[in-house]
Amino acid sequence: MRIILLGPPGAGKGTQAAVLSATLKIPHISTGDIFRAHIKGGTDLGLLAKSYIDAGKLVPDDVTVDIVASRLNEKDCEPGFIMDGFPRTIPQALMFDEMLEKFGRKIEAVINITVDDDVIINRLSGRRMCSCGRTYHIKNNPPKVEGICDVCNNSLYIRDDDKEETIKERLKTYHQQTSPLVDYYQKKGLLKNFDGSKPIEVTTREILDSLQNK
Ligand code: ADP
Ligand code: ADP
Ligand code: ZN
Repeated sequence: MRIILLGPPGAGKGTQAAVLSATLKIPHISTGDIFRAHIKGGTDLGLLAKSYIDAGKLVPDDVTVDIVASRLNEKDCEPGFIMDGFPRTIPQALMFDEMLEKFGRKIEAVINITVDDDVIINRLSGRRMCSCGRTYHIKNNPPKVEGICDVCNNSLYIRDDDKEETIKERLKTYHQQTSPLVDYYQKKGLLKNFDGSKPIEVTTREILDSLQNK
């Protein structure tokens, strides 16, 4: 199954992707996670990506599409994938369609998770991340042991871009560049809408139910 998760920063894409990936046994591909791994590794791509990420802007389309293309070439993507945070612009969506067509593959569903802007600042300022791809929240979804990932025991960290000014900039970027994708996938008949302000498990159940008749 090939799924795209769409939604503003803080909607719960990463949280849902980790659970869906474990349940459906298909890889969770997060372009944000890939960029952060490059930043941590000090690569040229990391350096370039960081300048955009810290400003709350999007990394250029050509760079982003290239990293997705090479990730999709890996063997574990054959049975499918959950794309978290890609595409984020109309040009990315067009290039992604072209890429999939070349392989004779198609997207089965676009899961659009929405939450109001005023919830987002609270969500992102309490967010704690693990390098394994799991995401926590100090109040809404705390780890069993403070500061430690339940799954892999690594120390959790706070993202540099999860501060108030950057969050506001990211929301602006979302409304300008990413939200047009809602219409784009609606017209293709792929869009499924979910209310991301419900409890995490409720949203997971609703998504899994909607995928059942796929
Ligand atoms: P969030 O989960 O908060 O929406 P992500 O981890 O998905 O954030 O992305 C973090 C940052 O990485 C984005 O703000 C953007 O700068 C960059 N990024 C991630 N995915 C893309 C993409 N598809 N296109 C361009 N930039 C991206
Ligand atoms: P995204 O990947 O869309 O940016 P995340 O999955 O990282 O969003 O979630 C953002 C923050 O909100 C995290 O701290 C996460 O634990 C928390 N969160 C996610 N889903 C919910 C929910 N349904 N209710 C409350 N908090 C949530
Ligand atoms: Zn972990």
